[in-house]
Amino acid sequence: MRMTVIGTGYVGTVHAACMADIGHEVLGIDIDAARVATLAAGRAPMCEAGLDDLLTRALASGRLHFTTSMDEGAAFARTHFLCVGTPQCRDGAAADLRYVDAVVESLAPRLRPGSLLVGKSTVPVGTAARIGRTLAAVSPGSEVAWNPEFLREGSAVADTMRPDRLVVGVGSADAETTLRTIYAPMIRAGVPFFVTDPATAELVKVAANSFLATKISFINAMSEVCAVANADATVLARAVGADSRIGDRFLEPGLGFGGSCFPKDIRAFAARAEELGAGEAVAFLHEVDRINTRQRRRTVALARNLMGGSLADRRVAVFGAAFKPGSDDVRDSPALAVASTLRKEGAEVRVHDPQALDNARAACPGPAYVGTVPEACEDADLVLHLTAWPEYRQIDPAALALVVREPSLLDARNTLDARVWRQAGWAMHSLGRPQDD
Ligand code: NAD
Repeated sequence: MRMTVIGTGYVGTVHAACMADIGHEVLGIDIDAARVATLAAGRAPMCEAGLDDLLTRALASGRLHFTTSMDEGAAFARTHFLCVGTPQCRDGAAADLRYVDAVVESLAPRLRPGSLLVGKSTVPVGTAARIGRTLAAVSPGSEVAWNPEFLREGSAVADTMRPDRLVVGVGSADAETTLRTIYAPMIRAGVPFFVTDPATAELVKVAANSFLATKISFINAMSEVCAVANADATVLARAVGADSRIGDRFLEPGLGFGGSCFPKDIRAFAARAEELGAGEAVAFLHEVDRINTRQRRRTVALARNLMGGSLADRRVAVFGAAFKPGSDDVRDSPALAVASTLRKEGAEVRVHDPQALDNARAACPGPAYVGTVPEACEDADLVLHLTAWPEYRQIDPAALALVVREPSLLDARNTLDARVWRQAGWAMHSLGRPQDD
């Protein structure tokens, strides 16, 4: 089938490349001309496992192209995937729909009769209905569907090719047929395919993210209680998670969640529910958010205590800048938030990250960004492990102990082997485990 993918960020780039890879004719559209040129040259504008290869293959197949022209897009296909950003409003908790609205305003008058606009962006419930009313007025015969995106940065290609489920919210049998045709290889492979109305589809996405965020904040709340009881939150998490009704995924005590989705999605969901008169039903999300941001303050407080009450003029090494391993995305990164606060408190901060240094430098000037772990650790009084890149589990703690001023490590992700580090002479501190003296 022919389709456009409007907005070639994380979601749009991966969606466009994957759709071309499974045999569709795809035109990616973005207002960012530099991004379009990069993509057309076969370079992914972000670090994502397998994406460069996929892009190269899709471009070589002749089934994937990119443009900045909405005229070209509207003429190219009758199916248009909407993948633009829906960040948090600057002046509140709600989602900022300006990019979605700009696309609809630009595309609707250009649509060929019988077109289908398929939203993938995460939006407040009711957005599809509102877009449907615009289409009815400007492009009668065209319709809107919602097909929320569940990919995770770091495994976005695999998640798109083999999703846990596909959800499509449609208003007609024709729209369902179109989406079934597009996703036929996934459906044939046994991926559950949920067909519902657009409002339910919009809500599935924010409900799923709310549940995951709640699970993370739940275990971090337990971790705070463990800290005052001198108990081990990592053991507690494993033992609680061993209950098959609960499960151990997303039950990892630590610095908490960040990124471009969970924080803004739970805030936007709470704001939308309040608008609709159901604010009380999801009031717990405010607490989930508060618990989450508190983990950043806990980490800084622990670092400050370890430095005898003040970070001023202390040299601190930070492992990780990306909001999570496997990604170069630093949007609302807990690691960068902590690094930036440490610096504000007077520490000299050196940050290492395997992939996200350029983005971090641009988003958070101040700390020094360095290319190797030993550079970050040179003469450090304290090392903080803030993003759980697998690379950091390969570090030789004995060799690193020779580089630092004080072999003292705060593992805010609880993924380093504390026993091995202790054996190499390090004092180990953690968010959630009993502390070394
Ligand atoms: P992004 O910021 O990486 O990309 C958005 C892209 O849209 C940018 O390239 C921007 O230039 C482009 N754009 C903006 N206005 C445009 C316009 N008028 N016409 C064409 N292009 C335009 O965003 P993202 O991370 O890909 O997220 C997109 C949506 O998907 C959001 O609603 C997000 O919440 C949701 N989502 C994201 C993820 C994720 O992991 N990033 C996962 C699931 C869902």
